[in-house]
Amino acid sequence: MEQKRKIAVLGSTGSIGRQTLDIVAEYPHLFEADLLVANRSAELLIEQALRFRPRNVVIASEELHEKVEKALEGTGIAVYTGDSVVSELVTAAEIDTVVTAMVGYSGLASTIAAIKAGKKIALANKETLVVAGELINEMLKDSESVLYPVDSEHGAFYQCIVGEDIKNVSKLILTASGGPFRTFPRERLATVTKADALQHPNWAMGAKITIDSATMMNKGFEMIEAKWLYGISQDNIEIVVHPQSIVHSMVEFVDGSVKAQLGLPDMHLPIRYALGLPGRLATDEQRMTIADYASLTFEKPDFEKFPLLSTAYEAARRGGNVPCVMNAANEIAVAAFLDDKIGFNDIYNTIEKTMAWAPFIGSPAYEDYVATNAEARHYAQSLINDIK
Ligand code: MG
Repeated sequence: MEQKRKIAVLGSTGSIGRQTLDIVAEYPHLFEADLLVANRSAELLIEQALRFRPRNVVIASEELHEKVEKALEGTGIAVYTGDSVVSELVTAAEIDTVVTAMVGYSGLASTIAAIKAGKKIALANKETLVVAGELINEMLKDSESVLYPVDSEHGAFYQCIVGEDIKNVSKLILTASGGPFRTFPRERLATVTKADALQHPNWAMGAKITIDSATMMNKGFEMIEAKWLYGISQDNIEIVVHPQSIVHSMVEFVDGSVKAQLGLPDMHLPIRYALGLPGRLATDEQRMTIADYASLTFEKPDFEKFPLLSTAYEAARRGGNVPCVMNAANEIAVAAFLDDKIGFNDIYNTIEKTMAWAPFIGSPAYEDYVATNAEARHYAQSLINDIK
């Protein structure tokens, strides 16, 4: 019998992490959780550890270490704390696949460690490629490591491109639901609340990415993510709004043919696909009934109403550390918005001002990304403190 594949789930208590463990539980003969990492959700981490019996768990927040350790006493599960230990633990020989499902920039260091250790990576942390896509691609060249996208759109690109020569791809067509404010007049965005922004029409996701969807920053990030995953220039990536979220994305080829991948808007699908590669995992879960969708519609995005889309294209064109600055400012601004400190439009203003201020580095090394991230966060925070 084939050996079970051991999985590390970084961010196991978040939305993607929980759904990854659903897939591990769905195929117990294929997968086994070996390492679970959570930031602050101690209760859920304990519950997951007792159920999935990994060798190791990490609770990043040090003040919660004792609580988790006590709860798992006598189980044989080792409990660690702190951020830096994750980069060590993911390199363990036992681990086959690392699912990177943590939020934001914090995913970068452990993803790099996993690449260096030659692990398969199911990449859900898109910020890793937004911040340092060029560096990640350099490192992948010298490593046995492979990146499999978990993002639904990038999983769709993957499925459309499989078996094709990438040279024959002329355009990536990235679909966007348009978020909760698609039909709002532009003026109304000045006064929308956190509660409005957290009402995503189709996808159930964590708070940070739901706000990123409301501003459409998420789609800008995904455009940059696609650029690095498939080596396609941002000028050949088109964003199209598709409110039903059934077509997960499309690829146009040099002969004018277009392939699309369809499915229900359910993150279990791209996770199942990424973990199943190179094959497919059969499931009894809910199927899409195409006749239920009398119309699938597509429209151009409104760049005036969602100016962060243009910001993302500009960041991609300028390259270097600019996308890292954009991401850092966005993380600070979204946290402030979720904390009721700033308005919805201040998210864009904070990012633009931080990008205008930040010193440009054309070919950043890892240390440059670390410094850029810290400085841009600091500057964005100071702008927000002035708003109050
Ligand atoms: Mg997505």
